[in-house]
Amino acid sequence: MKRVQIKSKRVRHFFPWIYKNEVENLTGFEPGELVRLFEQERFVGIGYINPNSTISIRILSFKDVVIDRDFFLSKIETAYQKRLDIPSDAYRLVHSEADGLPGLIIDRYGDYFSVQILTAGIVKFKEVILEILLKKFAPKGIYIEAPKQQMKKEGLEPFTQIVGVLPDEITITENGVRFGVDLLHAQKTGFYLDQRKNRKVVTNYLKQRAKVLDCFSNTGGFGLYTALLKDADATLVDISDAAIKQARRNFDLNNVDATFIEANVFDYLRELRKQKAKYDLVVLDPPSFAKTKGEKKGALKGFKDIAVNGMKLVENGGYLALFSCSHHVDMEDLTRVVLKAAIDNKKSVEVVEHLYQDRDHPYLLNDEFSLYLKGLLCQVFDL
Ligand code: SAH
Repeated sequence: MKRVQIKSKRVRHFFPWIYKNEVENLTGFEPGELVRLFEQERFVGIGYINPNSTISIRILSFKDVVIDRDFFLSKIETAYQKRLDIPSDAYRLVHSEADGLPGLIIDRYGDYFSVQILTAGIVKFKEVILEILLKKFAPKGIYIEAPKQQMKKEGLEPFTQIVGVLPDEITITENGVRFGVDLLHAQKTGFYLDQRKNRKVVTNYLKQRAKVLDCFSNTGGFGLYTALLKDADATLVDISDAAIKQARRNFDLNNVDATFIEANVFDYLRELRKQKAKYDLVVLDPPSFAKTKGEKKGALKGFKDIAVNGMKLVENGGYLALFSCSHHVDMEDLTRVVLKAAIDNKKSVEVVEHLYQDRDHPYLLNDEFSLYLKGLLCQVFDL
């Protein structure tokens, strides 16, 4: 295995990425090749290199170990043990760097798996990973995807593969709530698993038969919890026709009903204001408005807009939940946005919960990027 000289302060904190400018010489390597890393004479770790990528090396181990089938098996086994008490048959089994396997995401949906391969280094271990999953879990089907956007950064062709069979829809049950998941056509890797805990926490605050507005509902997550567990009168809003269709099917699956609106939340909140509509809970769970640092300013404008208009629809003493799934918009930013909305609306706002991604998407302190989902649950009062 080749030796590579690097210079990185962050690696001393066991941060797993080495950027292009931190590598002494990037020539003569095959994308995905395993390398041993040194800072002068000191061994730093083992990782895989890709000269095509700005993140040129991702570290697999900070110890001098052999990277083979047993290495992957042990990481997957550890990740699995950590998730045994998750109250769902669907969870993220491996969350890339945060589970010590950079470039690999494995989601489990009952008897089916969805695998995302994000780097050349992981492409090389694809067969090993599949063999481990087949042997350990005996799944009925595995969907594998190396997405276009990531493969472009790696200088590779994107691909998909299906092992076994995949039904059109898989039914999962989290916290007693059933959802249909269409692995091949859904957003993300099928379902927003990271909001599982927050859907429960937010629902727990509601009284029976509460009126709920679930904005950016996707396939019904928050709204369906409130309808099933609190008999809520829920309205769901999403811009995606496919998401709203799946949301209807999910409500049917649980024998409950709601109002489904296919609309742009920015416009629809204004519409509801005109109608003087009021809710006991307004959930705002938008997509990532800031994929890069440069987009942060625009993102905050978007957040302010929905926070101001969303807050106007909250009953006195009702709740507002606001989330950001972008690493670049942090808890402090969200807090400031809600305060500005409170001032604009002349409201007093009490923060009742700070919310984060569920445990199957671990937040590794050594890797700041592993914390991405943040939320505030607030109770809103007239002055
Ligand atoms: N709360 C959901 C996840 C939300 S993901 C859950 O618990 O599962 C973000 C959603 O916002 C996506 O479904 C996407 O279709 C939708 N979306 C994006 N832009 C939108 C807009 N301007 N108006 C309404 N929905 C939008």
